[in-house]
Amino acid sequence: MKTILVVGGAGYIGSHAVKMLLKNNYNVVILDNLSGGYKDAVLGGDFIFGDTADPNCLKKLFDDNNFVGVMHFASFIQVGESVQNPGKYYQNNVAATLNLLDAMVAHKVKYFIFSSTAAIFGEPQYVPIDEQHSKQPINPYGLSKLMIEQILADYDHAYGLKSICLRYFNAAGADPDGQLGERHDPETHLIPLVLQAASGQREFISIYGQDYDTPDGTCIRDYIHINDLCQAHLKALELLLAGADSYAYNLGNGEGFSVKQVIEVARKVTGKPIPVKIVDRRDGDPARLVADSKQAQAALNWQPKYADLATIIAHAWQWETR
Ligand code: UDP
Repeated sequence: MKTILVVGGAGYIGSHAVKMLLKNNYNVVILDNLSGGYKDAVLGGDFIFGDTADPNCLKKLFDDNNFVGVMHFASFIQVGESVQNPGKYYQNNVAATLNLLDAMVAHKVKYFIFSSTAAIFGEPQYVPIDEQHSKQPINPYGLSKLMIEQILADYDHAYGLKSICLRYFNAAGADPDGQLGERHDPETHLIPLVLQAASGQREFISIYGQDYDTPDGTCIRDYIHINDLCQAHLKALELLLAGADSYAYNLGNGEGFSVKQVIEVARKVTGKPIPVKIVDRRDGDPARLVADSKQAQAALNWQPKYADLATIIAHAWQWETR
């Protein structure tokens, strides 16, 4: 059995990826410092409590295991916080990730799957956003991810480290079996917050602006089901193992939904009224972010299986009401 290291495997996306790798007969080792993840979200594999900021921890981990590849999910993801505290983002998302890449090089581990983001593109010049779109991040979070993409190109050239970067648009939904779901603290993402308003945990959902240049005035995003996202990681890993070259793909559903549409679908799925309050725009929110995922679909031989927004929300609701 091939052993894969999943860094950040106790977090939202990482925990779903671990479950999928195990189901596909990989041996999995999880490294997580539990800063944003939960030990009980790790459904199998060997869990190691530790941090990529610690080169000694990485050395021991790589000495003790014979990894064929690494999936890296451990990064900070809050745009606003990255503007207030960029050092935190560059330390973890860049410097600590470099430790991980250097450990891979030192131990001749050649395959790396990287969680990148639509935030590397900055303000969209056009939608849907394809891989060729200009890359001008407008916050330290996006820049930290772009820096790693650029570093990976150099590491491929110099050390033969092969990588696939997957630029997520809006990861959403939950494990269809109901075992896993989204648990951010604080929660800032739209769908879990809408569902907390549905369950009564919150009085209402704030809509951040309804004066955008979109049909109903609210922002449009591309919500991709967590299992589809993880399936793409698995396919990307298999592609690298089969000898593919390094690449970066945009990963979304290809269809955009407005904040109001999300709330409307959530009302139907949950049968709850979901009160809303219109508030000011949130800084840094582009009106539309929609992925052109054609390249990912072709190269990874991948299609979203849960493209329907109602299904994405139903799975998240199943988790929310567990
Ligand atoms: N949003 C909102 N109210 C909230 C949280 C989010 O109106 O309480 C909007 C946000 O402005 C954006 C969309 O929902 O247009 C998705 O936001 P989220 O934070 O989930 O993901 P992002 O697109 O920022 O990665």
